[in-house]
Amino acid sequence: MNVIFRTGFGFDVHRLAEGGKMILGGVTINSAGVGTVAHSDGDVLVHALCDALLGGAGLADIGTYFPDTDPTFSGADSMVLLDQVMGMLRERACSLVNVDATVVLERPKLSEYREEIRDSLASRLGLKPERVAVKATTHERMGPFGKGEGIASYVSVMLSQRTAG
Ligand code: MG
Repeated sequence: MNVIFRTGFGFDVHRLAEGGKMILGGVTINSAGVGTVAHSDGDVLVHALCDALLGGAGLADIGTYFPDTDPTFSGADSMVLLDQVMGMLRERACSLVNVDATVVLERPKLSEYREEIRDSLASRLGLKPERVAVKATTHERMGPFGKGEGIASYVSVMLSQRTAG
């Protein structure tokens, strides 16, 4: 039995609008009435994480498995989708080694939520918190992200996979 390492990368973006909620890594952010526009709960960080995990395992994107045209996923809790993605990885003998995530958001500042989001993701993923990094940056007031029109997230992961040969 060999163990190989595989990297995965994910990106997601959502529009922001007045009303609704902003949820990141399963944590509700006090966003002064600005919410994420999405079919699901709009957790852009978890969506990018799911895509990173799926990509690392050689699978397709999140929309292939959880299409936004499917009413089943209307308002879906993205952490439940994350559970399902982790199940798909287990079926392929893949384990998650670490997560490195960045959220791009002009406001609010996420520094006060950083540890809570990291702990939320780590406990859901069954990882020690030190295996999960959550960073945030503004877009320096440039472009649609800088004007507060949207939120984006980039996530990279390392997987280990047990293989027969
Ligand atoms: Mg999304």
